[in-house]
Amino acid sequence: MASLSDLPLRDDLRGKAPYGAPMDPVKYALNVNENTHPVPGPVREAILAEVSRALESINRYPDREFTALRAALADYASRDRAAGPIDPSMVWAANGSNEVIQQVLQAFGGPGRSVLGFPPSYSMHPIIAESTGTSWSVGSRESDFSLTPDGVRSAIQLTTPNLVFLCAPNNPTGTPVSLETIEAAYDATDGIVMVDEAYVEFRPEGSATASELLPGRERLVISRTMSKAFAFAGARVGYLLADPAVIDALRLVRLPYHLSGITQAAALGALQHSDVMLSMVSDIRDQRDRLLRELPELGYSVCASEANFVLFGGIDDPQQLFRDLLEQDILIRDVGIPGHLRVTAGTKEETSVFLETLGRLRA
Ligand SMILES: *Cc1c(COP(=O)(O)O)cnc(C)c1O
Repeated sequence: MASLSDLPLRDDLRGKAPYGAPMDPVKYALNVNENTHPVPGPVREAILAEVSRALESINRYPDREFTALRAALADYASRDRAAGPIDPSMVWAANGSNEVIQQVLQAFGGPGRSVLGFPPSYSMHPIIAESTGTSWSVGSRESDFSLTPDGVRSAIQLTTPNLVFLCAPNNPTGTPVSLETIEAAYDATDGIVMVDEAYVEFRPEGSATASELLPGRERLVISRTMSKAFAFAGARVGYLLADPAVIDALRLVRLPYHLSGITQAAALGALQHSDVMLSMVSDIRDQRDRLLRELPELGYSVCASEANFVLFGGIDDPQQLFRDLLEQDILIRDVGIPGHLRVTAGTKEETSVFLETLGRLRA
């Protein structure tokens, strides 16, 4: 058998590591920020009905413009938006927001161009940058992992990137990003500003999203996903909101018919029941708040989180604690921040098992 180094691989990919969240089969998988509640039966029925209809014409290529899905996503994204409804022409979708982000980099990044990020943040951002030949620059965060308008502005002035990636709330820290910070980033660059809002549904009720900033800002891109709050990680549906001109740019790089007829149908079926799909969000928020309250009682520090996970610190040996929990059938995430681990807020039962086990291990 050959190894990677025997192959004529692209020079810029040599020595790189692939995305590698462990996929061990465990009873309590609290490692990749999924919604751990299964999709309710009636919603599964609706999805099956849509998929069944899609199968009637599966011999044909699907709607390349996924018109019905874009209308449904526009409708969904228009809820609670003070700036008014999102038009379907402002929506684009792909197989997970990872593919959306890849298409953004294919269109606006690439060899000779650069993207600025603010680690610790989503580990896939630099990986997708590298795979599209876009160079990755980094700016720094405050000691509590927050971003400020001044900090972001000076990082942009220093690195003059073609794209800026902000993650709001930020994975793996849970830290929110203020609209002022996003505006400051936009005003400091002529490039694309992408706000990754994978966890936006978990924000405090009533707080604004970056979508309020879209009017008049044609270089602002907001990526979202059905993988997290929407309990649809296995279906692979992500989307973005942006000026229709951005979407014209993405049409230049997407593969034709990239979103299968079955994917489109499944997402449509689920979106018909968005209220049911989102009904677990407030329970998950409660469990997150419980982690934020109870982890300090066990002697750990926590990062203020507006997402469905908590980064906790004050751990002497994170690798050891990770292994000890795994031995108890609980999988969480070592995100490589010294002294810290990240845990997803699951169901009430899962969160209880995690906290009780941690308390026992601590004793
Ligand atoms: C989980 C996650 C995604 C989701 O990716 P999908 O491809 O839509 O499953 C995107 N961005 C961030 C920051 C995430 O944590």
